[in-house]
Amino acid sequence: MTIQFFDTLAGAARELVPLEPGHVRVYSCGPTVYGPAHIGNFRSFLFDDLLVRYLRYRGFRVTWVMNVTDVDDRIIKGARAEATTIGELSERYRKMLVSDMETLGITMPDFMPKATENIPQMVELIQKLLDGGHAYRTDDGSIFFRIASWPEYGRLARLDPEGMKVGERVEADDYAKDDVRDFALWKGPKPDEPSWETSIGPGRPGWHIECSAMSMRYLGPSFDIHTGGVDLVFPHHTDEIAQSEAATAQKFVAYWLHNAFLQMGGQKMAKSVGNIERVGDITDRGISPRALRLALMSAHYRMALSFSEDSLQAAGSAVDRLDALFAALATYRPPSGSHPQFALGVVFALVCALGYGIEPIFAAGALHVLDAALVNTLRMGTSFTVLALVVLPLLGGYPLLAAALTSRSVLWIAVAGVLSSSGYLLFFLAVDGLGPGRAMPVNLTYVLWAALFGLVILHARPGWGLLLGALVSITGAALVVSGGGRRSEEPVTALGAGA
Ligand SMILES: [Zn+2]
Repeated sequence: MTIQFFDTLAGAARELVPLEPGHVRVYSCGPTVYGPAHIGNFRSFLFDDLLVRYLRYRGFRVTWVMNVTDVDDRIIKGARAEATTIGELSERYRKMLVSDMETLGITMPDFMPKATENIPQMVELIQKLLDGGHAYRTDDGSIFFRIASWPEYGRLARLDPEGMKVGERVEADDYAKDDVRDFALWKGPKPDEPSWETSIGPGRPGWHIECSAMSMRYLGPSFDIHTGGVDLVFPHHTDEIAQSEAATAQKFVAYWLHNAFLQMGGQKMAKSVGNIERVGDITDRGISPRALRLALMSAHYRMALSFSEDSLQAAGSAVDRLDALFAALATYRPPSGSHPQFALGVVFALVCALGYGIEPIFAAGALHVLDAALVNTLRMGTSFTVLALVVLPLLGGYPLLAAALTSRSVLWIAVAGVLSSSGYLLFFLAVDGLGPGRAMPVNLTYVLWAALFGLVILHARPGWGLLLGALVSITGAALVVSGGGRRSEEPVTALGAGA
């Protein structure tokens, strides 16, 4: 079973083949700690968390690095306004970030390097670029990357380097440079600004060089996955590729994964827009962090996600239902002398647990169709028919589940799911005669089909799922037509009456 990711650079889904077998190296662009992070930032970090958890669940060793940018114009400005140091200000917000990550249950990265603790690595990289003719100095002691020296510039963002114009998306810098497209690797010293004495002169690093230097320090010149918000594709990641590959002459990153924005009130959540919410504000209102976590993960990471009070409420009740379901499963006892409910319950529990074990969101598709029905069914120990009817819609949840896991076409997987589901229904009709007065006899066939289909889909073989679904459908239809199967004469156990 392979894993595929949509790679921004390739513009297509590509199979994951780690550079070092069994070991996936991941770098995520972390926050600039000039203030408390908002939940839009945490959507990115939750995606990173999901990615790392899933890779580990699949048996890979994962080394995950997330940087902390602790020197930047906004930090300098903030520290000046509060009459404190950038060290004090950034450390305060870094601690808040870690505490919010813990609240949301985000896995801690293996390394969370601070930019200010990696200046020598940045200097070394800039020196290489100077030596290679890819960078130049200006009179104020700044050093710029020469985009004209790197013909492949802009491939990630699908830019035409020749046609690039100065626009709002191009960083406005106060520094003189040869070409408006060039970007600062090193910013010359200015009065009242922090500055480091280095072999390339005094000054402070530009933002882009930080990520190249820190990722390469912990993961090597070439590593597997680089993540970040879609707003980082240009210029940040575009610049990272240019400066890294120009310095090392090696491919920098094998797979670029970008997550979409969190929106609130129809706009991207951003401090500059003013439509932000913070983790602490939400939990202070008595909302559980698990509900917030689910709300922030309730859409595929490449789709814009709308956040609202309603989505938070919906996530809260979904978490409650899930808890109720697990509680019901834990206390469920099959009626004496009959075990099919138990068998199906186990199959269902496995599917849910599998999804939930990876991430709650994978169980979300199942949640929405299950609702309280299954919980009641399990609590009351009602007939196999009722339980089976509840499990059927769950199969409809497979397409979403499988698509979320594999980034295969939802349509493709959905057709397999629908075919298979309708096949089950026909089976029930033919063999047991659904309807009042009929009880479902023990029939392991259903359980086996369900388990087999689940395995096939979960192992990302929609083609096989399609074949299997077609087989089930045809067999079921044949049974209906031939009037085959046996009918149970046992009266149905009244729903809710128990055994
Ligand atoms: Zn970065």
